[in-house]
Amino acid sequence: MRTPTGPATNWAGTLTYRASRLHRPSSLDELRTLVAGSDRIRALGSGHSFSRVADSRHELVRLDALPPLIEIDSARRTATVGAGMRYADVIGPLHRAGYALANLASLPHISVAGSVATGTHGSGDGNRCLSAAVSGLELLAPDGSTVLLDRASRPGDFDGAVVALGALGVVTRVTLDLEDAFDVAQEVRLGVPLDEVAARFDEVFSAAYSVSAFTDWRAGHASVWLKKRPGRPDSGWSGGRPADRPQHPVPGMPPGTATAQLGVPGPWSERLPHFRPDLTPGAGAELQSEYYLPRAAAPRAFAALRGIGDLLAPLLHVAEVRTVRADELWLSPAYRRDSAAFHFTWVKDPARVVPAVAAVEQLLLPLGARPHWGKVTLLTPTQLAAPYERAAGFARLVGELDPDGVFGNDLTDGLLAAARERA
Ligand SMILES: Cc1cc2nc3c(=O)[nH]c(=O)nc-3n(C[C@H](O)[C@H](O)[C@H](O)COP(=O)(O)OP(=O)(O)OC[C@H]3O[C@@H](n4cnc5c(N)ncnc54)[C@H](O)[C@@H]3O)c2cc1C
Repeated sequence: MRTPTGPATNWAGTLTYRASRLHRPSSLDELRTLVAGSDRIRALGSGHSFSRVADSRHELVRLDALPPLIEIDSARRTATVGAGMRYADVIGPLHRAGYALANLASLPHISVAGSVATGTHGSGDGNRCLSAAVSGLELLAPDGSTVLLDRASRPGDFDGAVVALGALGVVTRVTLDLEDAFDVAQEVRLGVPLDEVAARFDEVFSAAYSVSAFTDWRAGHASVWLKKRPGRPDSGWSGGRPADRPQHPVPGMPPGTATAQLGVPGPWSERLPHFRPDLTPGAGAELQSEYYLPRAAAPRAFAALRGIGDLLAPLLHVAEVRTVRADELWLSPAYRRDSAAFHFTWVKDPARVVPAVAAVEQLLLPLGARPHWGKVTLLTPTQLAAPYERAAGFARLVGELDPDGVFGNDLTDGLLAAARERA
């Protein structure tokens, strides 16, 4: 068992975990013993969250030293993978075996369990968040025993167990739905007026399998990244001008770490993320926030954010708009709601960024925004729980699987208290 000393920070170095110890067991048996012997312990993934969702005042455990596992069941068309593995380590082998995941986030270096626990998403009108690909979970209960949860055996509440913010137990294996491997060709359109993106939102976001608009809220234009699946119909929208050389999502950055563009088809695993799985991007000097809005509210959000473009511009590395299809996962920010997700990559200067986050929240919350669980928000746990109609059901599930709150933290304790009060 490796137990590093000293405080650990998240990937961006923007928060220091408050846990007294961070464990890295190298076998499942060690992990079991550790969990069974702890009063309060919580799983940490790859530490890419900007909120304190992963934090603990007690003990944390990372699973990245456990033996890797990728087990493909071709009859069921699923893959069971080690929960602490990064997508970057999983997607290449899946592709080589002839399979694909429906979608990926911008960065493939995030862990599978950490991503699905927070409802992490990519883009695409027809694409649900990454958690929606989960058909089974293996997790450790407070006594260290294994609990199997899957769609078939728990049809009534499996949807509550996937986006679980670490509160149900330490997930050790995740089973993901597969489809046949496919190619993607990525094109970037530059200088697209934001007026056009807002007015023709449906057309722009159905112009490819996955569409991302990197928005300049002050200058009033976007670069639109189209990840097309050959053979799939699309709207045919092609505004702006085609980029004639590779781009980086952040304007002015060298494009070397970005996935291949210029319309050259290639594996889904090398095109769906914005960042190349084979290169490790440096830890970012950044903070991130993101809000999922009902899709129909997107044009109003465009108008509102353009109104504070001068405030936002000096504080942003980049901003991005994506779409996410509705799902049935109780704590997913896209629960039963086709969504438009408005993302902000801020400079790493909390004192200046917090007032801007407040301004954005003041504009977007009345439009029905649900903040990303893993990113910076100023909302309290009670406010965060408010838009989730199944929050009380989630609290019941936690009560069943973790009655003494061994896996809780300040955020989940607050959410559960709010949910129970409301029930
Ligand atoms: C550069 C960058 C790009 C990003 N791009 C996107 C994007 O495109 N789309 C998007 O939606 N988000 C994105 N994010 C946010 C990121 O996907 C989420 O914060 C995600 O939760 C990170 O996964 P992680 O493994 O780092 O989780 P952590 O931050 O380590 O943990 C998140 C949660 O998962 C739980 N958890 C982790 N492992 C386990 C386990 N084994 N068992 C039980 N619970 C567990 C933790 O307890 C915690 O509650 C990005 C973040 C960064 C830094």
